Amino acid sequence: MTFVSSFEPRPLWAHFDRILEIPRGSKEEDRIRRHVTLLAERHGLEHDTDATGNLVVRKPGTAGRENAPVTILQGHLDMVNEKDSDVAHDFASDPIRPRQEGEWLHATGTTLGADNGIGVAAMLALLEASDVPHGPLELLFTIDEETGLTGASGLDASLLSGRRLINLDSEEEGDVTVGCAGGAGTVLRLPVESAAATGTALTLRLRGLRGGHSGIDIVLQRGNALKLLARILTAASEAASFRLVRLEGGNMHNAIPREAAAAVLVEGDTAAFRAAIEAELAAVKAEFQSADPGMTLEIGAATSPGRAFSPEATATVLRLLEALPHGVLAMSPDIPGLVETSTNVATVKVEGDTLVVGTSSRSSAGSALRAAERRITAIAELAGAAVEHGHGYPGWKPDLKSPLLATVKALQLEVYGHEPKIVAVHAGLECGIIGEKAPGMDMVSIGPQIEAPHSPNERVHIESVGRFWRLLAVVLDRLSA
Ligand SMILES: [Zn+2]
Repeated sequence: MTFVSSFEPRPLWAHFDRILEIPRGSKEEDRIRRHVTLLAERHGLEHDTDATGNLVVRKPGTAGRENAPVTILQGHLDMVNEKDSDVAHDFASDPIRPRQEGEWLHATGTTLGADNGIGVAAMLALLEASDVPHGPLELLFTIDEETGLTGASGLDASLLSGRRLINLDSEEEGDVTVGCAGGAGTVLRLPVESAAATGTALTLRLRGLRGGHSGIDIVLQRGNALKLLARILTAASEAASFRLVRLEGGNMHNAIPREAAAAVLVEGDTAAFRAAIEAELAAVKAEFQSADPGMTLEIGAATSPGRAFSPEATATVLRLLEALPHGVLAMSPDIPGLVETSTNVATVKVEGDTLVVGTSSRSSAGSALRAAERRITAIAELAGAAVEHGHGYPGWKPDLKSPLLATVKALQLEVYGHEPKIVAVHAGLECGIIGEKAPGMDMVSIGPQIEAPHSPNERVHIESVGRFWRLLAVVLDRLSA
């Protein structure tokens, strides 16, 4: 045990201190799940683990509150294992070494695992607590949140009887999260005809864009390297005749592409082509001067492969990429500043005689997500591309009339002295998936102040954990009174 056990509230911090010693990277939750299971057994509490590995511990209500409605508390057992490259640390066996800096708790060269270790520690403290009045509790510990929400996706919701759930995985103190985006991916396959061709071979490489997470960062209006390269080439096609040899960029479905590259065969003099490229590039750079100041385009000479896309295929590829939407499609009418629906042209590559385009769309409204998918399908079919819909996951539409939200709001005013900020995120959360598996579930998400999660700079504000605990305690009291 370390100095962390002396922080207030002691029961929560002592549990957090203990789990710092337990390796719990995503998909390696066996040891931490056994730790929680043993604790439940020591207290004579009923528990179940589903086939996926999620654990539910049931704690009866305290005296006089045995018949109050069940409340589910939920957190994820896994953490992101990240370390500085010069730090010797084996996540499979070494304990996380906590370090205090002023009001903050850090780890030493690694992630701290406050995401979601503080939430888990709060649930363990409640599991043991005799001084917090509450109704019947279902403590839901999910696995593998961090690498694709697979724990929540495989959850056996029949283990849960409650219909209100407090997720403890928020990272902004004072915020109450009430919604998230669902997502869906689409792969377009466009047949491209190639033929022998002559001309001057040139390569174009657009890079230096900021990119970012295709959900969280889409609101920043950064450039999409694939869309911009297609735009620049389309502009050049008005001034010079060329054929595409290849076009590619992006490598992750959930990132805004930062780089894109093309090879072309230019017929005749290349001066007009280069001038048109430079002119459109200058216009693009001016538009994106604040969002993407580092953007550069290199034009290089190459040896001709002697083949290229046909003129028709070249035109179709550029038209398809020009027509596909990218970025924010709609803002939320309910929550200021929240993106409701967005889409990202994520990846483009050439496989044999096929151009393969991957897109990913997100929305907190399921119907808007399906509409975005239909729009992409329509454009793809106009271009003659085949469309495959990949695995999607559901969103969580904000319910501003939620009774649980009303209770949390009122009590947060008491604990914090101000009303919470009601927020939703434009990315996937476990609540979206749980809400789909357990229809009618009333849900909110709260947490202490955690910064830079998933990086060795991760830190948690020590006193915010105390306020988070008090809020949780008064909410459980009120919900069962
Ligand atoms: Zn988390």
